Amino acid sequence: MAYITLNKNHFFNNLDIIANKTKTKDKIAVVLKDNAYGHGILEIASMAKEYGITKAVVRCIPEAKMIEEYFEYILVLADIPQEASQKVRYTINDINDIKKFPKNTKVELKVDSGMHRNGVSIEQLPQALESIKKNELILEALFTHHRSADELTSEWFWQNENFQKAKDIVKNLGYENIRFHSANSASTLRHSKIDEDMVRVGVAIYGCADSDILSGLGLKPVLSLWAERNSKRELKQEQRVGYGGIFESKEDVIVSNYDFGYADGFHRICSNNYTTPEGERLVGRISMDNSSFLSDKEKLLVFDDAAIIAKSAKTISYEVLTSLKSYIKKEII
Ligand SMILES: *Cc1c(COP(=O)(O)O)cnc(C)c1O
Repeated sequence: MAYITLNKNHFFNNLDIIANKTKTKDKIAVVLKDNAYGHGILEIASMAKEYGITKAVVRCIPEAKMIEEYFEYILVLADIPQEASQKVRYTINDINDIKKFPKNTKVELKVDSGMHRNGVSIEQLPQALESIKKNELILEALFTHHRSADELTSEWFWQNENFQKAKDIVKNLGYENIRFHSANSASTLRHSKIDEDMVRVGVAIYGCADSDILSGLGLKPVLSLWAERNSKRELKQEQRVGYGGIFESKEDVIVSNYDFGYADGFHRICSNNYTTPEGERLVGRISMDNSSFLSDKEKLLVFDDAAIIAKSAKTISYEVLTSLKSYIKKEII
């Protein structure tokens, strides 16, 4: 079966780069949503804990439950609980949701500083704070998210200014001890120093550096995808391989078929248009459960940098990684 190896040295290297900005591990919250960007939520949680990380961010309650033992603080981005929890904090994404949270739930209020996706508007803040108080929720933090932190434009500065306005409003209304956070990976690594209370880092801990902001900082990809050979044959000159026969050999070559296909998360658009890090060319169409390469190896390193697959698939590393099915076995090396 195709399998994933996770490089612990690379993971720790990436956390070192982030800790160098935050100056303390306590400010780092690792983003483990969507099976830790396809890496395996339990594997990444256990390595993060070993490194000394105490905070994590997930999408939903089932993910929070899976990692509850590994962290002291967990932030759920989009889910509403049946009952309050000591450890788990919940995001308020919409002012009309406030009444749906059970009494005494620890909540964090998301403010829309310009992305216009989730969160209450700056104008709605006083009303949202009233409603939180009336519903007897425990407000711990105000946070926001950037829409263009990974692009070198003025957008990032403009959103930071908006968030500053939101912070001032909340502080002036008497919430002195509330925590603030806004930085994802790109934003964290753009700051010369982090003066907020927490950063929420995803793609950088996994070592994906597609963007200009994240390249050149020494981040190293954590995940490698390996496939195992199903069969091997000699393809004679002018013979074709796979569905539709879209690859025709110009000479006699060895072709092997490996057990990684589009059902496992290999983007079919890469068909006939990808070369592995060790130089094996993908030939013909990617099938549901397998794909063919000009190789006679028993084990094939399909990729060790999602950014390169992402280019061939005309997408971003995030999508390449989160497409990987959770049943693919993981091994920490
Ligand atoms: C996914 C997500 C992050 C992490 O973003 P990266 O670019 O992967 O660091 C941070 N905050 C929120 C709200 C997110 O949804």
